Amino acid sequence: MDSRPPIPADIRRRVLVEAGHRCAIPTCRYIEVDVHHVIPWAQCQAHEYDNLIALCPNCHRRADRGEIDRKALRLYKVNLRFIHDKYSQLEMDILFELAGAPVNAAIQWPPANNILLKRSLESGLLGLAQNPNGSVVVMGMQASPNNLFITDKGREYVADLGLHEL
Ligand SMILES: [Zn+2]
Repeated sequence: MDSRPPIPADIRRRVLVEAGHRCAIPTCRYIEVDVHHVIPWAQCQAHEYDNLIALCPNCHRRADRGEIDRKALRLYKVNLRFIHDKYSQLEMDILFELAGAPVNAAIQWPPANNILLKRSLESGLLGLAQNPNGSVVVMGMQASPNNLFITDKGREYVADLGLHEL
């Protein structure tokens, strides 16, 4: 007997909004969508946002048959996140670089270039610290670089992308 409860409305909505109420496979994007469990319900017995993806009935069937495997589905979901969060390729490159570097690693970052990291700095994924050697000010403007580092939130964000499982 199947006693599976329905997917809570707020989680279902979040999954559908993430995919723009279309199939999450970019070459499909069909408008009629189901919510699919990447790890099957029988195994996970939970409706968790990270495990759910919007698929059209055709792609849903193909996923159930294993023609579209779990790793591929995770990549499609990661791609949706990139679109959704709107971080630039530069920001993502820096996040991956720092997430893979030793804990206290930092990049020398000139203040004039802060605009390039506006979104990730504002979201608190990256942080800036004054260079411990002090700063050089020229005509009232800081000319020396700061230390750019990844925050705990930034590390969580990179880990949540699930790419390490691929
Ligand atoms: Zn589809």
